[in-house]
Amino acid sequence: MISMPEAIDIVLSRAAPLEEESLPFPDAVGRVLASEVTAPRPHPPFPASIMDGYAVRSADVPGTLRVVGAARAGAPLGPSADGSETHTGAGRAVYITTGAPVPPGFDAVVPVERVSFPKGEGSDAVAVADAFVPGANVRSVGSDIQRGEVLLHAGDRVGPHELGIAALAGVSEARTRRAPTVAVLSTGDELADPYARMYKPNGQTDAPAPIDRSAAASSSDRLDVSAGSIFDANRHMLLACAREAGARVMDLGIVRDDPDALAGAVAKAMDAGADVVVASGGVSEGDKDHLKDVLLGSFGRIAGVVHFGRVMMKPGKPLTFAEIHRVSRTDSEDRSEDRDESTRLDEKKTKKPVLAFGLPGNPVSAAVTFALVVAPAVRRMLGWVDPRPRRLQAVLAQDIALDKERPEYHRATLDWEANDSSANLPLARSTGRQISSRLTSMRGAEALLELPRGPGFVAKGTVVSALVIRDIGTQGGLQMPRVRPKVVRPTNAPDRVLAAADAGVAKKALRDDEDDAIKFSPRPKAIAVVTHPFVPAKSLSDLARESDVPDSDRAVTDEGNDDAAAILEATRRFLQRAGVSNDGDEKNAWRVFEARAENGTSRRLALAARAAAETASIVLIAPSGPSAVSSQAAVVAGTDLGFPGLAPRMRAPLEKKYDQSAKYDDDEDRSEAEDAAALAAIAYRETGFGINAGQVAGAVVASLPCTNCEEALVEGLTKMLLVPREKWEGLVL
Ligand code: AMP
Ligand code: MG
Repeated sequence: MISMPEAIDIVLSRAAPLEEESLPFPDAVGRVLASEVTAPRPHPPFPASIMDGYAVRSADVPGTLRVVGAARAGAPLGPSADGSETHTGAGRAVYITTGAPVPPGFDAVVPVERVSFPKGEGSDAVAVADAFVPGANVRSVGSDIQRGEVLLHAGDRVGPHELGIAALAGVSEARTRRAPTVAVLSTGDELADPYARMYKPNGQTDAPAPIDRSAAASSSDRLDVSAGSIFDANRHMLLACAREAGARVMDLGIVRDDPDALAGAVAKAMDAGADVVVASGGVSEGDKDHLKDVLLGSFGRIAGVVHFGRVMMKPGKPLTFAEIHRVSRTDSEDRSEDRDESTRLDEKKTKKPVLAFGLPGNPVSAAVTFALVVAPAVRRMLGWVDPRPRRLQAVLAQDIALDKERPEYHRATLDWEANDSSANLPLARSTGRQISSRLTSMRGAEALLELPRGPGFVAKGTVVSALVIRDIGTQGGLQMPRVRPKVVRPTNAPDRVLAAADAGVAKKALRDDEDDAIKFSPRPKAIAVVTHPFVPAKSLSDLARESDVPDSDRAVTDEGNDDAAAILEATRRFLQRAGVSNDGDEKNAWRVFEARAENGTSRRLALAARAAAETASIVLIAPSGPSAVSSQAAVVAGTDLGFPGLAPRMRAPLEKKYDQSAKYDDDEDRSEAEDAAALAAIAYRETGFGINAGQVAGAVVASLPCTNCEEALVEGLTKMLLVPREKWEGLVL
């Protein structure tokens, strides 16, 4: 079975931008430009006043001037009354409003607030006390847009502002890509159309046939279906999804679970000019699931290649993608028409194939698979340069159980406001029970969290990657995250601070810098201690509520790990006692260095751990938070930044535990406390480190507990160093 990323790649490799077409610019909103737009004329087209005031000759001010006329926006100053005299001449001014052409001969505008009206000099006199440079308060010709300037680029998507730019420059036509027509049908004998009284599907692009709507609308609450039937949600939802993705749509209605009817409907859509056919239902293994066979051409009218028919994902496993050709209009026509097999094959070769998607019938699966593969295909056809869903990182607001079999796309809302502690990442909240029939789990969903498969769960606070599936920011305002953290280059002091760094960049910096004193073999004998300064703390009472560690026992709290120095020191002491420190014989020497994270949030810790793992075999994360929550999360997140999962070493024992649990699939029955206890026990037993351990870039990464930290450190290091290195390095992966 292929993975979802592979499925997306396959679909995008078959979807190409459609032909170019020209549209009146206002109709091109939502389209992608096929060629650049240049300005046919400058803007402003004349020197324009920026202020309400007086046009003057800059050489005349300061001074008292005589007002000889007025120039207003839309009413430039014409020739003077006798038709001969120009308005210029020493000591003259013209009253002017914002946006009016500055009359020839004048070169500056004095704002009305900066003039006075001297008494006894006549009503047409103004006095200017200050000097104004030439060009003051005047927008010169082309100062906003120059003639010939590139205003919009090929590949730009036309939105309201791009339309505004084109309008301002007087560009009337947009050269864009044609929008694909997406035909949508639902399959299923059980389906009834909830809007049958309002719309009649007629298989034409963008043309639902309205019927007596007023009567229908008023009785909609009383809609009912017969026994064994349900309302068709998918078709209406997917038509709207397709429109939202920028496509034109064709409604093919509900099709019975009958292969001939299905082949007929698909063929009809192709004849009517559909570029994409989206069916839902009928793609799994039941005896009424005929879509795959229909797409393969087993029932005539169509010849097709099915590229995939199952995808390793949850929800949406039966997702099917095919390219299909129309081989004959109908069986009877085919017989009656004078076309032989080779003519039909020729047609097949020359005509561009239609993309056909068979989405699973469960409405959540249909919605998720549309967002992941159909929408990108539509966007590619529209000409989008990068049609994939946007990926960003988010912090989990709660523990989420993993699916043992398949990676899951977990629906979530994103909230930037609520997450004040984690580098401006949004907080991802699950939309609740994720069973694929429960469409209310799509309500308000802004993102699909990419969760790996595996036993156990991903803990609250973990940084996970999320695919954006709709406009975000309905709750928290549109505040885009800074996805890239600031990078601080590693310093050159081997035994001091190594790095506070973005992992990738740190790696590069270490390798690029020829003068760098730190040159390690791939698995150096080095222990990095990740330290971190103050994290804006919760109040002690908040901490107490969240943790059963009494304050008296708390070695380190969220108020920062002031004990970082003590941990470094304890590590050095330990190595000395074990006889493997720098002072001992060089061959066996282990070094200790500090990797300082920018702050103690899980993401920063994970990044620092990543950077440190490039030059150390063991990375210890100094504790943070009540029961070291962020450092735990950092271990989990750090094992694979962007698509986190528990280290396999931690998975195996957990798998056992959850296999025995009958209620494994039911989040609500899962006891958080039990999970946490199990996790801690396993990590403690396996590594000696009290809370959590995993692997990052070949190094063992452990988070230290905030209680009995030094004990855990000694026990953990003893355990690891007593076992030959090859063993524990191998153990973890
Ligand atoms: P299928 O993929 O056809 O086996 O359908 C799987 C489940 O989704 C069944 O429970 C169907 O009743 C349901 N289902 C299929 N199509 C739709 C639809 N258009 N709207 C709502 N539910 C559907
Ligand atoms: Mg069905």
